[in-house]
Amino acid sequence: MQNTEELVRQLDELERSLYVFHHLSALVELDANTAAPHDTTVGRSAVMEYLSREQYSAFASEKTGELLRALSERKAELSARDARRVEYLKRDYDHMKAIPQDEYVAYDVLVSEAQNVWVKAKQENDFASFAPYLEKIVASQLRFIEYRDPEHKKKPYEVLLDDYEYGLTEDFLDNFFAEIKKTIVPLVHQITEHGRQPRTYFLHQEAPIEKQRELSDYLMDVLTIDRNHCAITETEHPFTLEFNKDDVRITTHYHLNEVMSSFYSVMHEGGHALYELHTGDDLRFTALASGASSSIHESISRFFENIIGRSRGFCDFILPKMKELFPEQFKDVVPYEFYKAVNIAQPSLIRTEADELTYCLHIMLRYEIEKGLINREIEVKDLPQVWNAKMKEYLGIDVPNDSKGVLQDTHWSGGMFGYFPTYALGNAYGAQMCERMKQDVDVEACCAKGDLKPVVDWLREHVFQYGCLMDPIPLFEQYCGAKFTPSYYCNYLKEKYSEIYAL
Ligand code: ZN
Repeated sequence: MQNTEELVRQLDELERSLYVFHHLSALVELDANTAAPHDTTVGRSAVMEYLSREQYSAFASEKTGELLRALSERKAELSARDARRVEYLKRDYDHMKAIPQDEYVAYDVLVSEAQNVWVKAKQENDFASFAPYLEKIVASQLRFIEYRDPEHKKKPYEVLLDDYEYGLTEDFLDNFFAEIKKTIVPLVHQITEHGRQPRTYFLHQEAPIEKQRELSDYLMDVLTIDRNHCAITETEHPFTLEFNKDDVRITTHYHLNEVMSSFYSVMHEGGHALYELHTGDDLRFTALASGASSSIHESISRFFENIIGRSRGFCDFILPKMKELFPEQFKDVVPYEFYKAVNIAQPSLIRTEADELTYCLHIMLRYEIEKGLINREIEVKDLPQVWNAKMKEYLGIDVPNDSKGVLQDTHWSGGMFGYFPTYALGNAYGAQMCERMKQDVDVEACCAKGDLKPVVDWLREHVFQYGCLMDPIPLFEQYCGAKFTPSYYCNYLKEKYSEIYAL
């Protein structure tokens, strides 16, 4: 019988090899999205297939199963950190092991093909060419759900939710969306009927890309991001990718006539980066060295993007910089006007360009649709009609074509069902977290001075350092000192938009 120390050493080794797979796949992904020329997917697919197969063999093996079982039996002898590593890996192991290797690898290949088909379908407004792939992805997901939960302990969609927010249920989300809908829909109506829209022309003038890059560098400094550990590059769609806590990459996209687009994407991805950069040193290269869940991650990124970045104080602080970099465009703009302009609320077609108020309605629509797909209440072929009807109902908008409708997001082509709700939940988590933070930190003063260090320090101490040491819901309750309720978020929206639009 091996001693516990030896077993923990084997656990270190296993995690180190998983880290290597993570790093290599991330490199391939980063290259695909940045430097790689267009028609180069064939070679990359071969690499991804190989990595996927090797990772499965290394992780979902009998040897891993035995190791995790032996360590689970000696839980009392393990430190809290090591016990959690075992518990956390065991979940991933059970999940992967439940799916036969060939199906696992075939699925990886399917979604990588589907993403290419989706890109083309979106460009050509051709839902029919993408539909067969989406049907296969849904069918695979339904099979995997059956493998993972053969006794049907959970609802099918909840098995998928676990991947992004462990423990999340359909009931919880149904209540959550019903609650925020009660706040947001009437506010949107009031604004559409009675609100006077602010002037925003200055945000849509030509802003030289070189100057926008300077602005990004400045924002990275304001966010206290250490550039020796976090690089920023340019891609079609902004994202954050972490190799480890000492090597994080974020990307942005510069639009000549939309200076605030890259501004807020840097604030958003910068928030994700801060989280990864400040996970605990003792978690480095373990399975726990990342954010606690997608919702908690989004709560941080959207906190920096909206609650900080669109606050009155921060807008007042940043305007002089905008005038310095873009003197012609911003010369007549006064502070309150800038604040109102970046907070304009207006129903629109595209989720990623939606304003802070209507954003969650875009998510609610996606939540209802993907829940319907997984519960077999909606068929893939009917998606365009269902999508367009819901856009009309929730946002009052007619969808001109599928490219600007059901084909706009990449998530479903990647098989990411259950991810969307975490965006909305992240918004609401962030609002409640901010109220708790205000007991310790003068958040408004920090925004007004552009000194975000106290905010980042608070987050490091209460959120970041824990990585995945705790499940998301207990972690949230620990740092907020209370159970989650959507009321903080609803009140935040009501107060903010009633003031801006004099409702
Ligand atoms: Zn994000």
